[in-house]
Amino acid sequence: MENLDLKKDFEKALKENEFIVFLQPQFDSRTEKLVGAEALVRRIIGDKLLSPDSFIPLYEKAGLIERLDTYVLEEVCKLQQSWNKKGFFLRISVNESANHLSNEKHGQDLIELLNKYDVSPEFIELEVTESAVIKDIEIAKKAHKRIHELGFITAMDDFGVGYSSFNMLKNIPIDILKIDKSFLDGLLEHRRFQIILESIVDMAHKLRILTIMEGVENRQEIEYLKEIGIDIFQGYYFSKPISINEFENRYI
Ligand code: C2E
Ligand code: CA
Ligand code: CA
Repeated sequence: MENLDLKKDFEKALKENEFIVFLQPQFDSRTEKLVGAEALVRRIIGDKLLSPDSFIPLYEKAGLIERLDTYVLEEVCKLQQSWNKKGFFLRISVNESANHLSNEKHGQDLIELLNKYDVSPEFIELEVTESAVIKDIEIAKKAHKRIHELGFITAMDDFGVGYSSFNMLKNIPIDILKIDKSFLDGLLEHRRFQIILESIVDMAHKLRILTIMEGVENRQEIEYLKEIGIDIFQGYYFSKPISINEFENRYI
């Protein structure tokens, strides 16, 4: 699609509420109790459910992603507000794209949105990927500092697949490391892979950073990951991303 058509189509999708937030639950590795959820967007057109991989990259290129991320955050704030009224509190993470972060006004925009719905920032986690950060480490450093000072939790998504994971870790004070699911491929068969993962978890803990393993699909993985001290699990073994309705039926 041409940029203009893409933009028109995006506006239509926003106006007609075609973007829907799904939630994937996260569990404490020791107790296996619910400790959080990740907001993952889908688009519904008629009876079709489009996966974010089919539209997010296009929106990134076309400069539309910031608006989508803000929309998702606002949906999450509305949800938090309704849960809080019922006395239910849960940390929800949202994905943040690169450009957003470096925008100086961004932190303030986030706070305004939270104030509108009376949500406390400690219940919102911002996930960024390292590619979002490496473009300019100095800007990213400042942005993280600001966001932290405002009380948000920050997580680094897809850790370990890019070129600069460690450079980023060295410079940016984050709270949570989300270890990419590709680390699970062959993990139980290769001692070499295990040593690398164990060292990452160790390092994170020494830096007082929590670790989330994403993409856990079976019990053997879980038993091993518990042993090496992963803090939080997210993956199909526990649940796929589900609609808010289903999430509430299961967990509230
Ligand atoms: P991500 O942030 O790495 O999200 C995790 C993806 O892994 C999700 O795909 C989730 O459904 C999938 N997943 C979770 N558990 C398992 C598992 O056990 N096995 C396997 N094979 N996969 C698992 P999803 O929902 O299709 O999202 C794809 C990507 O789209 C996300 O990757 C994220 O980068 C992007 N995305 C989704 N929502 C948003 C959004 O609101 N804003 C932005 N900027 N990006 C988003
Ligand atoms: Ca994510
Ligand atoms: Ca991820």
